[in-house]
Amino acid sequence: MLDYFDALDLLSPEQRQLQQEMRRFLDAEALPYVREWWERGEFPRHLIARFGELGLLGANLPEQWGCAGLDNVAYGLVMCELERVDSGLRSFASVQGALVMYPIYAYGSDEQRREWLPRLARGEAVGCFGLTEPEGGSDPGTMATRARRDGGDWLLTGVKRWITNGSIADVAVIWARDDEGVVRGFLVPTDRPGFTAREIPHKMSLRASITSELILDDVRVPASAMLPGAEGLRAPLSCLTQARYGIAWGAVGALEAVYTEALEFARSRVTFGQPIASRQLVQAKLAEMVADHTKGLLLAWRLGRLKDEGRLRYTQVSLAKRDNVRAALRAARMAREILGASGVTLEYHAIRHMLNLESVDTYEGTYDIHTLIVGRDVTGLSALE
Ligand SMILES: Cc1cc2nc3c(=O)[nH]c(=O)nc-3n(C[C@H](O)[C@H](O)[C@H](O)COP(=O)(O)OP(=O)(O)OC[C@H]3O[C@@H](n4cnc5c(N)ncnc54)[C@H](O)[C@@H]3O)c2cc1C
Repeated sequence: MLDYFDALDLLSPEQRQLQQEMRRFLDAEALPYVREWWERGEFPRHLIARFGELGLLGANLPEQWGCAGLDNVAYGLVMCELERVDSGLRSFASVQGALVMYPIYAYGSDEQRREWLPRLARGEAVGCFGLTEPEGGSDPGTMATRARRDGGDWLLTGVKRWITNGSIADVAVIWARDDEGVVRGFLVPTDRPGFTAREIPHKMSLRASITSELILDDVRVPASAMLPGAEGLRAPLSCLTQARYGIAWGAVGALEAVYTEALEFARSRVTFGQPIASRQLVQAKLAEMVADHTKGLLLAWRLGRLKDEGRLRYTQVSLAKRDNVRAALRAARMAREILGASGVTLEYHAIRHMLNLESVDTYEGTYDIHTLIVGRDVTGLSALE
């Protein structure tokens, strides 16, 4: 692992071993094929069962529910390694763990936990998280999806867009307003009549990840499908905090991938009789990348420790997601530039990471929205609403 400041000294032997095992597994079973998956616009579904076997899904949730029970730094290292290969792989794990398993764990009944968590952890079932709607994602307060009571059941109607894993999911966590206008979460099996998932075509980013539109037309679910502990927008927002935490780590992995590739290329590419790595302009780019990687890794590690101590604030997660993803995006663009013409092909990783990171910079709260969240926190004045 790229480690300019000996940050690995901060890890336990178990965390270091996990990071190395993850890297070996992904270097053997994902990295050599990721270009083809991305080019074909295909998510490698065969890896879901492997992720389950290796305990990567919902890995920081308790063993009681069939999960690995990892501490949050170890969980973060898993996210970092996944995204070093491709943001689409990390997105799959983030959605399954932080956006589907976490709400079931945090807000579900024991019956819901028993039914879903072990299967989701083993990769025998896939989940998706439906919050964003066609009218906009930054302000989920405008949610138009409705949940109406009908006898003992609920009827769900609405459209969710940009939903990761939507077309391959067995269960969708759907957020909807009830008759009183309260936001509630529902576990909706995707084979219910009235539920349709359509893959969104022509994506030029996160191509090795499935993104879908979900249409719910009076989908009937029993009262037991509602997450009993989730009341109000705070519930889905708390899930986003979990997922953003993983993204802050993941971005560090993407940054390492593009930096390493650019450095190797710069050392061997000779122009005007010298390797381009000897040029000040190229070194400036590499120094910026390694500085950003160092800061991002230390920030993610500190965030993990705060999370383990139960002291994490969502505004800190906003700052880390915002900064680490933007740094990785900047690095991917610089790496692409160092690679010259070669950088525009998928033969190298830089442009794939760069295009992926455009989505990562936008989803789970855009860069600007996180700027405004941090701005509100430090000034006490909101520029959001
Ligand atoms: C590949 C992909 C996968 C996704 N997966 C999921 C998923 O699994 N589940 C899910 O629910 N959603 C998902 N999303 C949706 C994602 O979270 C939203 O795209 C994101 O929240 C932004 O919403 P929007 O695209 O509607 O942009 P908008 O909210 O319409 O914003 C448009 C622009 O306006 C800016 N803006 C908005 N409000 C303000 C303001 N007050 N001040 C200044 N600027 C502002 C934004 O920063 C942005 O630049 C995914 C998106 C992508 C691209």
